[in-house]
Amino acid sequence: MNENQNGSATTEEEQFLAVRDLEKIHLRGETQVPALRGLSCAFEKGSFNFILGPSGSGKSSLLYLLGALDDPSGGEIYFQGKSLKSLSEPQRDHYRREQVGFIFQSFNLLKTLNAVDNVLVPFLPQGISADLRQRAVELLKQVGLGHRLEHHPHHLSGGEQQRVAIARALLKKPELVLADEPTGELDSASGAEVFRYLRQLHDEQQTTVIVVTHDERYLEKADRLLHLADGRLVREDVHTG
Ligand code: ADP
Ligand code: MG
Repeated sequence: MNENQNGSATTEEEQFLAVRDLEKIHLRGETQVPALRGLSCAFEKGSFNFILGPSGSGKSSLLYLLGALDDPSGGEIYFQGKSLKSLSEPQRDHYRREQVGFIFQSFNLLKTLNAVDNVLVPFLPQGISADLRQRAVELLKQVGLGHRLEHHPHHLSGGEQQRVAIARALLKKPELVLADEPTGELDSASGAEVFRYLRQLHDEQQTTVIVVTHDERYLEKADRLLHLADGRLVREDVHTG
């Protein structure tokens, strides 16, 4: 149970995204490595959230579980009132592919494809309509890459590659965008640009964004901050700076 703004209790079923007593134990050979040790929190629809904490505190593990890219060892995640555990494999697949957009630290673009085609990659299995291609082009323009449409990744800077990855994540109009250290490989000017465009698309699409970082330079007023340490939520606040 969590408190809502009126101070009355809400259940996980009523929340956009809720995490209850989440545990993750990784296996390294035969050694058990605990990454999350009973973490509970909730995310409001349309919010912009940061998960902060030192290296090894469980940030990536949490993000992968939220995106159903990995399975918890204990506890539950509820998306729009439904436990991810209760979904069938096709439903989980639908969640991952249609409702969640993932942005990785290392961009994960395909070397042999140009910017437009990289944005379209998630839709390749179902075929690309002219409308969809046009939307990919529009999105690339929105992230400031209108002059780079035909460029392949090796002719793009790191910041430009990450902006292609943002366009790719947002083409499907996801309910939820998860970004794991999206500026981790960028200099601060490129990092600032990445956040500028990510926030712009967040405002336009009213999507919910959760960004993992250990870099606090990109925080803005009213962002929600979740601080992890040793696999636990140690503090939760709203950025006032
Ligand atoms: P963060 O993203 O905050 O650096 P992680 O979630 O990546 O933290 O890691 C939390 C802990 O889990 C660390 O001790 C890490 O070494 C361990 N860990 C993460 N992924 C794996 C994995 N695939 N196999 C084994 N151990 C892992
Ligand atoms: Mg990490």
